[in-house]
Formats: sequence, structure tokens, C-alpha cells
Amino acid sequence: MIIDGKAVAAQIRAELKSRTARFFEKYGRAPALAVVLIGNDPASEVYVRNKIKGCEETGIRSLCYRLPAAVSQEEALALVNDLVRREEVDGILVQLPLPVQIDAEKLLRAIPPEKDVDGFSAENIGKLARGEEGIVACTPLGIMELIKRCHIDPRGKHAVIVGRSNIVGKPMAMLLLNADATVTVCHSKTKALAEECRRADILVAAVGKAGLITADMIKEGAVVIDVGMNRKEGRLCGDVDFESAAKKASYITPVPGGVGPMTIAMLLSNVCAAAEARMK
Ligand code: NDP
Repeated sequence: MIIDGKAVAAQIRAELKSRTARFFEKYGRAPALAVVLIGNDPASEVYVRNKIKGCEETGIRSLCYRLPAAVSQEEALALVNDLVRREEVDGILVQLPLPVQIDAEKLLRAIPPEKDVDGFSAENIGKLARGEEGIVACTPLGIMELIKRCHIDPRGKHAVIVGRSNIVGKPMAMLLLNADATVTVCHSKTKALAEECRRADILVAAVGKAGLITADMIKEGAVVIDVGMNRKEGRLCGDVDFESAAKKASYITPVPGGVGPMTIAMLLSNVCAAAEARMK
């Protein structure tokens, strides 16, 4: 079965629309997301445009701040600090990557955990590791939502995650562990990657290498989640060789149209949750 991330994301957006309407009724304002875009990286422009469009569609107020590529660390930090102070701003998102003169860590650290709607802060990652409630990174959170809405129960299953980045692999491992899966995390130094993958009931590929995961690495009936976003001959494709893998998997996400649409939907959901938590 092909998991239709686009359809699930559309459903979540519709749910968010009523959630933001309820918020407005109660507090007389919309949840608000501030986006900081530094420089003119074309991919970042597209991501920011899509995030703002998502806000508009779901009744979230978006505030977009553009800073020139040559902006100083102090100026960028001053903007983030101003957004931190502003009562009506519920979530702050600094679009990555940043120009070389900007210390990304320092800038991101200025965002307090309650406004960190990307879920990248040490405090939010710490909460996730401890199994406490906090804001979780959008892509892994979206994958959990896909799994849940497909009625796949991770409990007792063997989950293998390929990739250990702070924004996908590691939080994914923690979410699946918190959902009672037995988790293996693979990376570039893993020996016998194929063997590890073949043990997976749930296989998550988050590497960034087209076609790395082939059908012979997949257990019959496994759930295969492809996070990868690669360009091959001008076309977008994932880390999994979809055609062959689909013949062995019970569930599989396509690229495009699988995990990707869920990421923005979960960002919008994180903004709503942050706004509700702040107003409490
Ligand atoms: P990173 O580059 O930060 O991490 C890649 C990970 O893959 C690293 O842990 C690396 O290992 C591991 N790796 C690299 N080569 C191999 C290999 N041959 N075998 C096993 N593991 C390997 O990437 P991200 O986590 O940021 O993103 C991963 C992919 O997901 C990218 O294609 C990205 O575009 C996509 N993505 C998609 C999103 C979406 O919304 N759909 C959102 C975010 C990312 P090591 O740590 O040892 O270097």
C-alpha cells in the first residue's frame, strides 16, 4: 500500500483550520508564526513561501522577516531577540542554511523552547529523550503521524533508521523508542547496512543518497518510510529504490508525495500547539 502523505497532510490542514478558528474565538487573535529568512538561497525561498502559504490556508498569522545575505550576527540576533520578546509571536523559525558569517547555533539558541516550533533546541530534544512533552521536530513527527493514521502500531516492532542527523534520524529513533519499538540506528560507519535493514519491520531511510536502499535490503512485509529528497536526472526521488521496494513492502511512502507534505503540516500543528500552550 502506498502511503499518500499529500492526502494525510491535507486532512491535518483541514483539522488545523478548525483548531485555529477555536483559538481565535477564545483569545481574539490567530496563532502567529515568525519566519526569518536570511539571504536569497533559492531552495530556502521556496520552503519559506510554502510555509507562509500553509499558514494562510490554516488561519495562522505569518510574519516574514527578510534580512540581506551580508547581515551581521548582531543584527540577526537583535531581530530574533525582538521576536522572542513579542507577546503575539507564538513560534519563531529561522530558515536554514544561514550565510557563513552567521553562527547558526548561537542564533537558534536565542529561541526559547516554547517558541521553538522546529523542535531543534537542546531543551526540546532533551524532553523528547526523556519521554516528556515538548515540541518535536516536524519531519519525524510527521512520520509518526503517518504511521498512526495507517494504524501501524510500532510496539514491539524492530525499527531501523538509516541516518542519525539531529533533525531527522535521532529524533525519529527517540519517537519510535518512546512508542515501544526496538530501535537500531545506522549511519555512514555502519558495517553490513543491508543486513541491519533486512531486520526491520519499520525501515526509515533519511540519508540523502538516491537509491541507497534496494529491494534486497527489505524484509517481506516491512513498512518503508523514505525521507530522502534527491535530484536524479532533474527528477525528485528518495533514498529507496521505489519500484522494486514497493513489491516487498506492506506500506511504503513515495517521493514526492510521502513524507515531504507532512513536514509543513506538522510545523503548522506545532505553531498551534505552541500558541495554545503559551495562552494557558
Ligand atoms: P544529513 O546529511 O544531516 O544526515 C545524513 C545521515 O545519513 C548521516 O547520519 C550520515 O551518516 C548518513 N549516511 C550517509 N551516507 C550513508 C550511507 N552510505 N549509509 C548509511 N548512512 C549514511 O541529512 P538529513 O538528516 O538532514 O536529511 C536526510 C535526507 O532527508 C536528505 O535527502 C534530506 O533532503 C531529506 N529531508 C527531507 C525532509 C522532508 O521533509 N521530506 C526534511 C528533512 C530532510 P554520518 O552521521 O555517519 O555522517
